[in-house]
Amino acid sequence: MHVQICIIGAGPAGLMLARLLHLAGVSSVVLESRARAYVETRVRAGLLEQGSVDLMAATGMDERLRREAMVHDGTEYIAGGQLFHVDMWDLIQRRIYIYGQQEVVKDMIAANLAAGVPVIFEAEARKVGGLDTEKPFVEYAHNGAETTVTCDFIAGCDGFHGVSRAALPDAVRRDYARDYPFGWLGILADAAPTLPELIYCQNEERGFALFTMRSPKISRCYLQVAPDESEDNWSDDRIWTELALRLGDHEGVTLSTGAITQKSVTPMRSFVSEPMRHGRLFIAGDAAHIVPPTGAKGMNLAISDVYVLSRAMTEFYKTGATARFDAYTETCLRRVWGAQHFSWWMTSMMHNLPGENAFDRKRQLAELRTVLGSRAGQTLLAENYAGLPMEM
Ligand SMILES: Cc1cc2nc3c(=O)[nH]c(=O)nc-3n(C[C@H](O)[C@H](O)[C@H](O)COP(=O)(O)OP(=O)(O)OC[C@H]3O[C@@H](n4cnc5c(N)ncnc54)[C@H](O)[C@@H]3O)c2cc1C
Repeated sequence: MHVQICIIGAGPAGLMLARLLHLAGVSSVVLESRARAYVETRVRAGLLEQGSVDLMAATGMDERLRREAMVHDGTEYIAGGQLFHVDMWDLIQRRIYIYGQQEVVKDMIAANLAAGVPVIFEAEARKVGGLDTEKPFVEYAHNGAETTVTCDFIAGCDGFHGVSRAALPDAVRRDYARDYPFGWLGILADAAPTLPELIYCQNEERGFALFTMRSPKISRCYLQVAPDESEDNWSDDRIWTELALRLGDHEGVTLSTGAITQKSVTPMRSFVSEPMRHGRLFIAGDAAHIVPPTGAKGMNLAISDVYVLSRAMTEFYKTGATARFDAYTETCLRRVWGAQHFSWWMTSMMHNLPGENAFDRKRQLAELRTVLGSRAGQTLLAENYAGLPMEM
């Protein structure tokens, strides 16, 4: 088989890229190691920036999103026992959308298959090669057979544990990483959201909590826990009690509880691998970078990377120009590092760091009050939270 672009991975990055290329008349195949049912039910991110929603609309994949997404004009923060409202719409005339990543993936798969773009499930890429030639290839296993696809370019959209990033030679690759000394215990619960908007909660004694949602009937909540904590240590009662304690008492804010349908602990990590291109291999999304979920940037960065990549590929097939290919790493990394900074800042500002002393706690609270208590501070927060421009 030969295609113009071989895309590895049917996550938000790979599927959005396939759609953008199809609309531009460029052929691709998507190889996905997991089954369709698995990727369509994998619960991960749930917040789309305005730019990601605009791109879903521009590519004709927003019909269900427009109906079902919860549109938020602002976000709530609790710091020092005080509730602050950041009105993003008033500050920057942009908003965010709550819509589960698995729903985004479902819509993207449906659009690609309906357009005849081949998305091959249970097809695991084992090796990428020929990167310095005009005919790179991907070897993959499917239905018990080993197959090779040749192509003009490879898009490595295969997430953090995929094969693409490892194909960049050590001599050119540089990794930057920070592990945080805590994780998030995340739950899904059959419970109405505590407030209509997200609540980021910094509790000086007990640590961070986030109250978010997936629908008007389903809450998604997170608790800061030790990085090696096991979810088995957390009974439903213990989780609800801890969430209530971290939330505290605020007029008009009542924690809704209900059956917990899923719980797991996620480690917190910042990671960037540079460059994002080697020869005819381009890596995008989690294959190239990871952010702690505090800023809700992971899925949005995956989408913005492939927006940049699709423009480079489209221009190449139209005109033969390679300038956008050459600028791919630099263009993406400007936004990636902006999001890395924001995610690190939010994480540092909102969590209790082990080993901190009383001075550190007071300083952290002062920082939160400075940011949340001024229009300038809130504007900086809102601009980053609602998302930086796709191309910076
Ligand atoms: C538990 C969890 C919770 C998260 N919560 C949030 C959140 O709240 N907010 C947020 O913004 N982000 C969150 N993220 C991050 C967000 O989900 C990712 O940033 C996003 O999925 C990145 O999309 P992607 O397409 O780059 O990678 P992925 O979604 O990981 O897609 C990669 C695809 O490649 C496939 N694949 C891997 N290896 C191969 C191979 N060899 N051959 C073929 N296919 C392969 C994988 O099965 C997968 O389907 C979370 C991530 C995790 C793991």
